[in-house]
Amino acid sequence: MTIAPDPVDLAARLIACKSVTPSDDGAMNIMAEALEAAGFTVHLLTKGQAPDGPVTNLIAFRGKGHPHLAYAGHSDVVPAGQGWSSDPFTPTIKDGYLVGRGAVDMKSSVAAFIAAASRYTEHKGTLSFLITGDEEGPATFGTPAIIEWLNERSIKPDYCLVGEPTSMEVLGDTIKNGRRGSVNMWIDVPGIQGHVAYPDRAQNPIPVLARIISDLESWLLDEGDQWFQPSNLEVTAIESDNKATNVIPSLAKAQLNIRFNALHKGAELVDSLKKRVAAIEPKAKVKFAISGEAFVTEKGVLTEKVSAAITKNTGRTPSLSTSGGTSDARFLTKLCPVIEFGLVNATMHKVDEKASVEDIQQLSRIDEDIIKSFLG
Ligand SMILES: [Zn+2]
Repeated sequence: MTIAPDPVDLAARLIACKSVTPSDDGAMNIMAEALEAAGFTVHLLTKGQAPDGPVTNLIAFRGKGHPHLAYAGHSDVVPAGQGWSSDPFTPTIKDGYLVGRGAVDMKSSVAAFIAAASRYTEHKGTLSFLITGDEEGPATFGTPAIIEWLNERSIKPDYCLVGEPTSMEVLGDTIKNGRRGSVNMWIDVPGIQGHVAYPDRAQNPIPVLARIISDLESWLLDEGDQWFQPSNLEVTAIESDNKATNVIPSLAKAQLNIRFNALHKGAELVDSLKKRVAAIEPKAKVKFAISGEAFVTEKGVLTEKVSAAITKNTGRTPSLSTSGGTSDARFLTKLCPVIEFGLVNATMHKVDEKASVEDIQQLSRIDEDIIKSFLG
């Protein structure tokens, strides 16, 4: 067995790979090498084609049978954007922070867990890594492909920790034990085009759309529950594609998003919305795209063991939260109970993204205690 890598060094090597979704730029090979050196069997799974692919994913195992703890994460990053103080893909350490695209979301987390697994090598059961190269993109060829690969081989982890940056102010203050679901919808209301001076010969779709929106605004989806805030519908755009001041347009369109809690399924919300729209204008058309269903992992072994490892190292008692956007946990929850825990997320996706060097080291110690508590 070789010497365990330092998590900050490993994170820096990963940041130097320009793995903007769906590119990999060598990140998977760096992880594969480190994991093989720590005794893991590594499978690289390349799927899909342009424009959303090809995507390389990594699946690695060490040990046999149960209990089986899986660590899930991603090595892709969002584009750097303009205005960085230093090159986003040249990792720099400044004032105690590792700076670079992916430092927070989430190359340092992956590195911290690989380093932990490299230090803690003798364990029972199975430890696995499920790393996707397509979390920040449409995820078509990422985690769903990993899950399919596992299903084909009847491999089922008992618990999954997703290393997304969930801490809000300080490392260890927040675990995510669920996520809201999300559905986008588009409503098209047809009318009959005509001259504004002859409204009897036309049919204006705009007031109809306004009535639909007003009805949707009054729709109380739920009042939330123990884990979730109330589900929420937001109209995000309306347009009629009409620049002329003397024309009644032939079409009015609205776009909206619903962030929903585990009291709903995406399809059920789409159905209810279609009924409400049809009651006002039967000719209106509704299109939709469900980006993810809501899920919650109730308090249990997973939340308790991860919380205990956090408290042991930081003295903090993490709160459980379901706030924020969606993550790949929405897919992994189909495999087994899943929670998310990682670094402070203040600078993720931003210019000058940075992670505290001390936090990365501490996260790696927490990770080691998590492995110990499940597989020790
Ligand atoms: Zn992420």
